[in-house]
Amino acid sequence: MATAPAPAPAVARKLVYPRALLKISGEAFAGSRSGALVGGGGGIDFGVIDRLTEELRAVAGMGVQLGLVVGGGNIVRGTMASQQGMDRVSADYMGMLATVINALALQDILEKKGVDTRVMTAIRMEELAEPYIRRRAVRHLEKGRMVIFAGGTGNPYFSTDTAAVLRALEIEARVLLKATNVDGIYTADPKRDPNAKFLPSLSFQDAIVNGYAVMDANAFGLCKENGLPIIVFNINQAGATARVLAGERVGTIVQ
Ligand code: UDP
Repeated sequence: MATAPAPAPAVARKLVYPRALLKISGEAFAGSRSGALVGGGGGIDFGVIDRLTEELRAVAGMGVQLGLVVGGGNIVRGTMASQQGMDRVSADYMGMLATVINALALQDILEKKGVDTRVMTAIRMEELAEPYIRRRAVRHLEKGRMVIFAGGTGNPYFSTDTAAVLRALEIEARVLLKATNVDGIYTADPKRDPNAKFLPSLSFQDAIVNGYAVMDANAFGLCKENGLPIIVFNINQAGATARVLAGERVGTIVQ
C-alpha cells in the first residue's frame, strides 16, 4: 500500500492568526465545470480539489489551527430547487447534504496528502462523520487536526456563510477567511468597469453604506456584531492562504 506523503515542513513564519476559519464555497469545488443537479453549477472537479488541498497542506505545515466550512452550491442550492417546485425546507436539507458530499471529497484528498482531518456534521450521520460538538471540535484543532464543518448550520433558511461565522465564533477563531475567485473587494465589478478600484481594507460600516456584498446579510451582521474580521481573498493564487495567515496584506480585510 502506498504511504501518504508527510505534511509540508513547518514554515518559519510568525502566525498572526493562530486559529482561523476558512469558508470555501461549493463553486470553488467545481472549477469551470457546469451542469450541477440543482445548483449554481459544476459538481466536483477533483483537479481543483487537488490544487486546493495543496494550499491547505502548506497551511497545516505552518501549525495553524484551521477549521473549514464548505458550501454546497456546486451540487444543490435550496432556493433553486424550491424555484423548480420543491418544498423549500426539503430543498435546503438537500443543500446541507450537498455540503457533506463536498466535505468528504475534501477530507479524502487531504488525508491522502498526509493532513490529519475530521469531518463534523451539523446533521447527525455518524456512520460517516462525527456530530458537531463544539468542545470536541476545539480539541481536534488543538491536536493539529483540520476540522471540516459540514451540513451548514443544520437549519433550513440559512447559508453556509452564516454557518462559517457561527463556527468561527464558537471555536474562537481570530479571523474568517472567505475564499473566492477574485482578489478581494472592488468598488465595482473589475471585469465590467475599468475604473473599478481595489480596496485593501474597509470597515464593516463602509461595506454596508457602499453595498459591498462581502457575504450574505445575516452572516455579515454576525461578524459586525462580534467584531470578527473577514478577509476576502483569491484562493486560486498559489500560496495566498498561507500568506494571509502569516499576516501579509493579501485580499481585502473588513474589520
Ligand atoms: N443550507 C441551509 N442551511 C445552512 C446552510 C446551507 O439550508 O445552514 C442549504 C441552502 O439550501 C443552500 C445550500 O445548503 O443553498 C448550499 O449552501 P450554500 O448555498 O451556502 O453554499 P455555497 O454558496 O457556499 O456553495
